[in-house]
Amino acid sequence: MTTTVIEESFRPGELEVRPDGTGNLLGSRCRSCGAHFFPTREACAGCLSQDLDAVKFSTEGVLYTYSVVRQSTPAFEVPYAIGYVDFPEGVRIMGQIAGLEFDEITIGMPMTLSLEPFGENEEGDPLTGYRFRPAEVTND
Ligand SMILES: [Zn+2]
Repeated sequence: MTTTVIEESFRPGELEVRPDGTGNLLGSRCRSCGAHFFPTREACAGCLSQDLDAVKFSTEGVLYTYSVVRQSTPAFEVPYAIGYVDFPEGVRIMGQIAGLEFDEITIGMPMTLSLEPFGENEEGDPLTGYRFRPAEVTND
């Protein structure tokens, strides 16, 4: 891939971006009941404990469902696919799906977190966001 990853996340606190272009989605784990949440929470939605740890989620999950968006605000070029990916920690996270034709997208397929340029901040500086791409791609 030839994309340039900028360390500034489009949503600080939700996405950690490292200088090498890798990163993780960030969330919380309840120390009382073990539930995980994305994004970060102040209190557990299950047991209301406020004893939460910050966690980095896995970068591979499974596509739970998806949809193709054909109308959007002018900020987004349509059409694009958006989906929910289930991660091993038990969180379901929404994001754009890239790297597939729409008719290649299959519920249940393994997906991987991909850090990619994602718009600009108010000062015009590029931001890094995430998309989901199919895992185990071997296009050489
Ligand atoms: Zn809890």
